[in-house]
Amino acid sequence: MSSADEYDRSMNIQSHAPGYWPLEAMEKWNDHKWQLRNRINSLEELESKINLTREERSGILLSGNKLAMSITPHYMNLVDKDDPNCPIRRQIIPRIEETWEDPAELSDPCGEDSHMPVPGLVHRYPDRVLFLVTDRCASYCRYCTRSRVVSGVGEQQLETQYEAAFEYLENTPSVRDVLLSGGDPLLFTDAKLDRILTRLRQIPHIQFVRIGSRIPIFLPQRITPELCAMLKKHHPLFISIHTNHPKELTTEVQQGLIRLAEAGIPLGNQSVLLKGVNDDVITQRALVHKLLMCRVKPYYLYQCDLIEGSSHLRTSVSKGLEIIEGLRGHTSGYAIPQYVIDGPGGGGKIPLNPNYVVQHTDNQVVLRNYEGKEFIYPEPNSMPAFLE
Ligand SMILES: *Cc1c(COP(=O)(O)O)cnc(C)c1O
Repeated sequence: MSSADEYDRSMNIQSHAPGYWPLEAMEKWNDHKWQLRNRINSLEELESKINLTREERSGILLSGNKLAMSITPHYMNLVDKDDPNCPIRRQIIPRIEETWEDPAELSDPCGEDSHMPVPGLVHRYPDRVLFLVTDRCASYCRYCTRSRVVSGVGEQQLETQYEAAFEYLENTPSVRDVLLSGGDPLLFTDAKLDRILTRLRQIPHIQFVRIGSRIPIFLPQRITPELCAMLKKHHPLFISIHTNHPKELTTEVQQGLIRLAEAGIPLGNQSVLLKGVNDDVITQRALVHKLLMCRVKPYYLYQCDLIEGSSHLRTSVSKGLEIIEGLRGHTSGYAIPQYVIDGPGGGGKIPLNPNYVVQHTDNQVVLRNYEGKEFIYPEPNSMPAFLE
């Protein structure tokens, strides 16, 4: 277990070549296309680099028709060669537990398929939509909430209908916020992404656009000055990144994030609470501090969705509450994400907070602070008895 100090000092972790790659790889390392071409997609490739456990080996063999394995060289270099409990490894290398069935699990845990007015467009909330623009990512998270359609190897396909989606948005003035996700939208070329954003920007009632992407973490080389210059034309544009562990915030990742911030893009982070990865206060505190150093505001901390084969990565709700309690008051308010559960079957994001209200009557609220001390706040209508 690393201490918080150790993590704070680890700001300059690098994921540079060669790492697991031959020296010649250094020449191409910063080319994102090279990174994508050289992803690790098979058991043989992975086994030539690290020592796998039996659980991992069988997991990889069985993942082929469920959710593909794919790991960028950049991210691979963060994997600990010998430690099967490495927090990076648990996120990206399949394990046999993925084939375990739990009756509570669902293939579409957030009930998205039943909220699509057009294939690929999820309209659950009154004023905003989730637009699934692609089914591909730079690497695949083993707890992917959309594993049913992502990576192209499962039974279901995404089949987004772009033209119908744009027409729906044009004809639905209640939508003022569009969230591009997938898959990972930043996998598109600059030109393709520019066309999508330009089309959205032509719709007058769409005020706010955001992109959900893990590319800044998996493939920071993609965050080129050209990409940033293109994105900058479509403000107000926000980006939500996805990082779960302080080790992921390498110097290359930090540089990419700062480049996005310099283009005027406000950055938020969405983390998933994962057992053995980030389900303790020390790791979370180090993560949120490093995020602020990278100019990213921690946005949401998600309780892991009930996705099929995720039981080994799910942790209790009490753990999540304990983490928030360990942050609130103890560190900058800006560093604290909102803990949420996406209501299974389609409830949307529901906030969870530690309970700071000890007692609430018509006359007063009894509160406790982060140190456990109690305070009384009188309600405005509670006149002291002597004035009545
Ligand atoms: C998460 C999500 C959004 C965005 O929610 P915010 O709370 O505004 O970030 C929109 N639509 C769907 C279907 C979502 O899952």
